[in-house]
Amino acid sequence: MTPNLFRGLGISDEVASYSEKILSGLKERFASVDAVAEFNQAKVLAAMQKNRVDAACLTGTTGYGHDDKGRDTLERVYADVFHTEAALVRPHLTCGTHALAVALSANLLPGDELLSPVGKPYDTLEEVIGIRPSPCSLAEMGVSYRQVDLLPDGTFDYDGIAAAISEKTKLVTIQRSKGYQMRPTFSVKQIGDLIAFIKEKKPGLTVMVDNCYGEFTETIEPSDVGADMVVGSLIKNPGGGLAPIGGYIAGTNACVQRCHYRLTAPGVGQDVGASVSVMRDLYQGFFLSPTVAASALKGAIFAANLYESLGFRVVPDSTESRHDIIQSIELGSPEAMVAFAEGIQAAAPVDSYVAPVPSPIPGYADDVIMAAGSFVQGSSIELSADGPIREPYAIYFQGGLTFPHAKIGVMLSLQKLYEKGLVTL
Ligand SMILES: *Cc1c(COP(=O)(O)O)cnc(C)c1O
Repeated sequence: MTPNLFRGLGISDEVASYSEKILSGLKERFASVDAVAEFNQAKVLAAMQKNRVDAACLTGTTGYGHDDKGRDTLERVYADVFHTEAALVRPHLTCGTHALAVALSANLLPGDELLSPVGKPYDTLEEVIGIRPSPCSLAEMGVSYRQVDLLPDGTFDYDGIAAAISEKTKLVTIQRSKGYQMRPTFSVKQIGDLIAFIKEKKPGLTVMVDNCYGEFTETIEPSDVGADMVVGSLIKNPGGGLAPIGGYIAGTNACVQRCHYRLTAPGVGQDVGASVSVMRDLYQGFFLSPTVAASALKGAIFAANLYESLGFRVVPDSTESRHDIIQSIELGSPEAMVAFAEGIQAAAPVDSYVAPVPSPIPGYADDVIMAAGSFVQGSSIELSADGPIREPYAIYFQGGLTFPHAKIGVMLSLQKLYEKGLVTL
C-alpha cells in the first residue's frame, strides 16, 4: 500500500486507501478529459494570437472607458472561441444571473413569450422571469412565460414543445447544466437537435443557452449548433479561477448589440464601460480555463465513482459522459449534506476553519448550504459544494482549480461522513 500523504490534512488511512483504489481505475477517463482540454487550449490560444493580444490589452481604462482596447479585444477573443459574430464580456455583468437577465430583457418586448422547453430554469431565474413575483421581472414588463417539462426519462417532450410554440413565442431559453435538479445535463449535440427542431417549427425564434458550468467540457459549444446567444459567469469555467467578477454573452450581432444597450444605455452601447484593472485576470483566466475545467471534471468523475461505490445515487453516474463540471450526490439527509460540506470547507485554502451552516440566500427559495473557501468570493470554479436543503438532499459538488486539490476535497468530504458514522468503508 502507498503511504498516506494526506494524514497531515486529517485524512485517515482508511479513507486514503479507499480513495486511491477508486482512482486507480480512472486513468483512461482522465486521459480523455485531458484530450478535450488540449483541443480547447489550442482554440483559446489561436483566438488570442489572431486578435493580437498585447501588453496594452492588459492594462485597462477609467472613466467612460472609450477606446478600451483590452475590453474590445477580449470581446473579439470570446467571439472567436465561441464562433459567434459578437460578444459582451465585462466586469459590469455582476454575475451569471445578471448576464442572463440582460440577455433576456434586451431581447424580449412587452407581449412576447419566453419558452423554456427543458423544464424549470435555475432558481435565481425564477425572479428574473417572474415565476416568483419580483419587481422588474419580465412578467412585470408584460413578457409571458411558458415551460415544457422534460419527460420522466429526462428527454425532451417534442410534442409538448411543438404545441407550446405560438405566435407570441419570441425567445427560447435552454439551460445546459442541471443546476439544482437531479435531471441530466444536456450534451451540446442534444442541444443542437433541440434547436434544430425548434427553428424548424418557427424559423425567426431567438435561442439562448444558459451555458453556466458547461464551457470547455466538450470540444464544441452550443453556439456551434445554432444558439443565437450563449451566456455564462466568469466566476465559473471561463474565468479560470482568476476573473474576480464578470459575465459574458456571445452571439449574433443583432442580439449582442441589444444586450450592450440594455447593460449600459440605449444609444450608448458598447463604447462605454471602463475595464479599470481587471483585464489581465480576465485574459489570463480565460487562457487557463480549459485546463481548470479539466481539473474540475476529473474531480467530479472521482466523486461520482467514489460515492456511487458507497451506494449513493450520483448524477451523472460513474461512467456517463460529461457535459458540465457539476456532480450531484444524493446524500439522503440534511446531516450528510452538512458533513459533506464541512469536508469541502476543511479542504479550502481560504477560510478552512469556518463551519458551513444552512442559511437563506437571496434568489433562492429554500435554505442553502454552501462550502466555499475560495480566493474569489463565491467562486464555484474553485472547489465548492452547495445545495438547497430539500428532498432528495442532494449536494452539488464542483470545481477545483487543480486536480490534486479536488481530490483532497473529495477525500475530506468522505472523511467527515466516515467520522460521523454516515458511511462504512
Ligand atoms: C450559477 C448558475 C447561474 C447563475 O449564475 P450566478 O453567477 O450564480 O448568478 C445560472 N444558471 C446556471 C445553470 C448556473 O449554474
